[in-house]
Amino acid sequence: LIRFTNVTKRFGDNTVLDDLCFSVRPGKHVTLIGPSGSGKTTILRLLMTLERPDSGTIDVNGGRLFPADEKERREVRKKIGMVFQQFNLFPNMTVLRNITEAPVRVLGMSRDEAEERARELLDLVGLGDRRDARPTQLSGGQQQRVAIARALAMQPQVLLLDEVTSALDPELVAGVLDVLRDIARSTDITMLCVTHEMNFARDISDEVLMFDSGKVIESGSPEKIFSAPEHERTREFLGAVL
Ligand code: ATP
Repeated sequence: LIRFTNVTKRFGDNTVLDDLCFSVRPGKHVTLIGPSGSGKTTILRLLMTLERPDSGTIDVNGGRLFPADEKERREVRKKIGMVFQQFNLFPNMTVLRNITEAPVRVLGMSRDEAEERARELLDLVGLGDRRDARPTQLSGGQQQRVAIARALAMQPQVLLLDEVTSALDPELVAGVLDVLRDIARSTDITMLCVTHEMNFARDISDEVLMFDSGKVIESGSPEKIFSAPEHERTREFLGAVL
């Protein structure tokens, strides 16, 4: 479970999240949509503890992320993985090593076990034959699929996806989205996605949250949000992006 309770986040006098409340139940796939600057990425960055809220509480799977002492926060944070818009792979390591590094160093997994897991994950993302390649030898779409495998290698209970296809050439988008659809279908991982791909949002989401000015202004099933939005701002936003 992810729960934001009365979370406010400001940058200077810009209130980016304004007394925000929402929750995501375990195993659900929830998509955040809304205009640029409405605070969607900030939510993911708070969950990754890359930012701190000014007030409010954030809970993940029974543990408290904010406010919490450093030790508790680190434990909760371990359950959360993220895939970024820019893939951020380690350029000097092979694909396999990119995936095994954190499980070995952070989780204390043996290298053999980490490599076995990494091979399975590379098969899952359709890159079983590229494990010895360097990131620079791969297309953007392939690099992003490695980044997805790398996040999953940490066995997260929650996977955060931040506009994971927006840095890709259009012809590479479908392959990445197919992999994420498979993962959404075949695992019980909780997913929180920020995306501008409305078809993808419609496809994988159990629930869509529409943001505006740091608040959730409307939420519901993708059918409801995309076919019968109630809020004028949602209609305007979807009118502009669909
Ligand atoms: P987009 O769809 O464009 O990514 P978003 O909804 O994800 O937008 P955020 O990236 O969360 O929006 O940003 C919300 C607001 O916070 C923006 O006005 C942005 O300029 C501001 N902001 C984000 N990070 C910082 C920061 N580190 N310092 C100052 N302002 C920031």
